[in-house]
Amino acid sequence: MVSTTLATGLLLFGVLLTGGARSEGPVFLRMVIPESDTVETALSRHRFAGSTNPEASVRLNGRALRVYPTGAIAGVMELDVGENVFVFTAALGDGDTVRKTLTLLRTRPLESTGRDSLLVDDALMKPAENLWLRTGDVLEVQCKGTPGMRATFMGGRPLRELSPTETGGIEGVYRGIKIIGLDDSLVSAPIVFVLEDSLGRTATRASQGRVTTVDRLLPIVGLTRGERPFFNAGLGTDRLGGAKLEFLVPGIRLLITGKAGDQYRVELGEGMEAWIPEQMVRLEPEGTPPPFSLTGSWVVSGNGRYDLVEVALEQKLPWISRQKSKPSRIEIDLYGAVSNTTWITHVGTAREVRSVHYDQVGSRTFRITIELTHPQIWGYAVRYRGTTLEISVRYPPKEPALSSLTVAVDAGHGGSNEGAMGSTGALEKDINLATAQHLRRILEDRGARVLMTRIDDRFSSNTDRLQRVIAADVDLLVSVHANSIGMASDPEAVRGVSTYYRHPCYRELAVTVLDELRATGLRTFGSVGGFNFLLNAPTELPTVLVEQAFISNPDDEELLLDDEFRREIAERIADGLERFVESSND
Ligand SMILES: [Zn+2]
Repeated sequence: MVSTTLATGLLLFGVLLTGGARSEGPVFLRMVIPESDTVETALSRHRFAGSTNPEASVRLNGRALRVYPTGAIAGVMELDVGENVFVFTAALGDGDTVRKTLTLLRTRPLESTGRDSLLVDDALMKPAENLWLRTGDVLEVQCKGTPGMRATFMGGRPLRELSPTETGGIEGVYRGIKIIGLDDSLVSAPIVFVLEDSLGRTATRASQGRVTTVDRLLPIVGLTRGERPFFNAGLGTDRLGGAKLEFLVPGIRLLITGKAGDQYRVELGEGMEAWIPEQMVRLEPEGTPPPFSLTGSWVVSGNGRYDLVEVALEQKLPWISRQKSKPSRIEIDLYGAVSNTTWITHVGTAREVRSVHYDQVGSRTFRITIELTHPQIWGYAVRYRGTTLEISVRYPPKEPALSSLTVAVDAGHGGSNEGAMGSTGALEKDINLATAQHLRRILEDRGARVLMTRIDDRFSSNTDRLQRVIAADVDLLVSVHANSIGMASDPEAVRGVSTYYRHPCYRELAVTVLDELRATGLRTFGSVGGFNFLLNAPTELPTVLVEQAFISNPDDEELLLDDEFRREIAERIADGLERFVESSND
């Protein structure tokens, strides 16, 4: 793949040329954030980033700005409600000057409805999305309108007006609840709100979200579908999606008890629920029995690469797994299963599984505990073969050395997915690839085999990358990214290197790599757990996400643009992997 490597090298060279310092020629001023000259925002402050000639002096509305050695400028603009005009001027000593004007419109924050009107407006209204509810569920409703009115919903049920201290100062927000009862029969019904003044005049409005009660439809049974369906813990969302509870396989039977927007609510064990996107479920015909199985016999065996725990079931049931340390073990809660296990065959070939046992921890929750030989878990997978649950547990590397490992190196983003952008216009995807290529060479020099998830500027989704890594049965996965702050943060204030992990059993890897990265002299932003990043999600192998530095910070960006610095980052990552491998099972 010489040609693509060459192309990548040229591309990076190009970035460095255009992104780095330019000291010749006429004065220029190029803003990259905000992305356009006119911005409408609800934020009270907005960051800016751009670049100019390194020797230019720059003013923002007359105030001198710091120009970094790369020519970067960055900072925050405080915004009043309404129109805010910012004039940037860049000037060279010879008088050559350029001006750039940005207009930021800060939208008016939500205000109380006027007392001189009588109306329900559509702000803050709940339900905002369609809901399926069953008996016992709590329907929470809310509307906003003229303050001080008598407010009701669903034909006379009272609403309570919240005090402005509960609403951030807004008057006229009314809230109510209703516990769904057996005789409630709603089919795609909007919630109708009524405000009434002292003269008996009324205003009404119906919610966008519609409610359906599903008791008469239960049990609704679905089967998981798609490559890697997952459970969400709740309905929360962030830029990487809601917090994920577990990744599953297709064909698992689920009991669906509700829906909010485009996610089904799934009942697992007693008091245990999960949510799953509707496109990951195929609904089964009415009359399909809900998930249930007696557990059959177990076999524990080893095949020289991993140990296998097999549990015979009659159906594919949902599970959630977790890891514990001291002693190290894997716990798998299987939902809808009832113990009928009479024997467990533990074949002498098993090496990593020290013992297995089970507990019926709820009337329909069956817990499998797998005790391990070594303190460090090197990966496990939960799957089905037919309806037999299979848990495979990887062995630690044969030798505690990089030379006995295959390491997956993942250069974040690529192609149309550019990642974050620095003040000079440097793209995260290019920086990640450059560091990842260094890391590949360093790891290969130290005897490791390396699987790159990308070697050029092509797009591939994180799901595809993950599938290739898991299929290739590699030992460790390192994702290389560069960090960036949000639009309302101060780019000059936040910098440093950080590492992230998802499963507690892989925390040590993130901590060890960060510890080595400290030697770069970078400020350390921290080692952060529970990060909801897809490539940190698998239990199949230890994974770590490295955020090399903040590309949004001009000092960090200058470092990231320096190929020697990227090589050093790669060297320190390799040191961290090496130390982890050598010491993980001391
Ligand atoms: Zn990134």
